Amino acid sequence: MSITDFIAGLPKAELHVHHVGSVSPRIVSELAERHPGVVPSDPDALREFFEFRDFAHFVEVYLAVVDLIRTPEDVRMLTYEVAREMSEGQQLRYAELTVTPYNSTVRGMGIEPFTEAIEDARVAAERDFGLVLRWIYDIPGESGIPAAEATLDYALNHAPDALVGFGLGGPEIGVPRPQFKPHFDAARAAGLRSVPHAGETTGPETVWDAVRLLGAERIGHGTSSAQDPELLAHLARHGIVLEVCPTSNIATRAVETLDVHPLRTFVEAGVPVTINSDDPPMFGTTLNEEYAVAADLLDLDEAGVATLAHTAVAASYAPDDVKERVHAEIDGYLAEHG
Ligand SMILES: [Zn+2]
Repeated sequence: MSITDFIAGLPKAELHVHHVGSVSPRIVSELAERHPGVVPSDPDALREFFEFRDFAHFVEVYLAVVDLIRTPEDVRMLTYEVAREMSEGQQLRYAELTVTPYNSTVRGMGIEPFTEAIEDARVAAERDFGLVLRWIYDIPGESGIPAAEATLDYALNHAPDALVGFGLGGPEIGVPRPQFKPHFDAARAAGLRSVPHAGETTGPETVWDAVRLLGAERIGHGTSSAQDPELLAHLARHGIVLEVCPTSNIATRAVETLDVHPLRTFVEAGVPVTINSDDPPMFGTTLNEEYAVAADLLDLDEAGVATLAHTAVAASYAPDDVKERVHAEIDGYLAEHG
C-alpha cells in the first residue's frame, strides 16, 4: 500500500477548517441554482471559477459563496453536505468547524435560525455519516469590535450545544490582537477554549499576543513562530498546539514554497502540531493531500502519519468517549495496514 493510499483510508480528526471555506463546487452549484446570478451554476464553469489562481481570486470566490448563503436552509444544506464530503472523502471521524456567524447575521439572518440550522445539520451528520462535529465561533477581525461584540453575544447567549471554542480570523495586518482581549476573557470565563489565528501574515509578536493576552491554547497557523526560538520553547513547554495548514500557507504566501515550510522546525522544537486544510476546495487541496505534504516534509512512514492523526485527536475538544474511539480506530487501522 502506498503512503497516499494509507492516508486516504486513515481515520482522522481535523481542527482547523472553515465552514464556508469548505464548500465544494458541487455544493456551490446547488446554492447557485437556488440563487441564480451570482456565480455560474454550470458545474464545469463553476469548477473553473473555483480553481485557485491567487489570493485575490480566492477572496473573490469566498465572498461569492458568502453571498449565496441567504436562508437558514442554505446553512443547513451547506453544513450537512460539507460533513458528507469530510466523512466520505477524507475519512474524518471528528471535526471542529470554524464558523463565522457574524457574516450571516450582518446580511440579515437571525442568530437563532442560524444556530438551529448548524445544529440540525450536526445531529443529522453524526447520525448519517458517523462524523462528530463541534463548532468554533470566529471573530472576523476585519470587521473589528462590533463583530467581536456580536460574536461574543452569540457564543454566550445563543450558544449552539456543540460550541467548544472561540477564535479570531481575517487579516492580521492592521488588526492588532490586544483589542480582543476582553472578548476572549469573557468567552474563556464561560468555558470556551481559545483558538485564535496568529502569526500567519505577521511576525512572532502576534503569536506572543495570542498566547499572553488571548490565552491561546492552540494557534491557527502560527507560521512565523519559527523565527523566534524563545517562542518555540514556550509553545513546547506549555503544550500550545500549532494548527498547520501547509497548502494554505503557500496560497496566501505566508510561506514562499513548501521546501521552506517551517513544519519540521516546529516538530524539532517539540511543539505539538496538527495537520489541517483550512479552506480546502478554495485552495485546491484536501486534508488527505495535506497529510501527504506533511509526510513528505517530515519523512514519515505509516506509523509517523498515524501519530499525526493521534495528535489531532488528543489536541481536540472532543468528548472523551469520542477521543477514545478515534484513537482506537487509528491504532486498528495502523495494525492492519501499517
Ligand atoms: Zn484559518
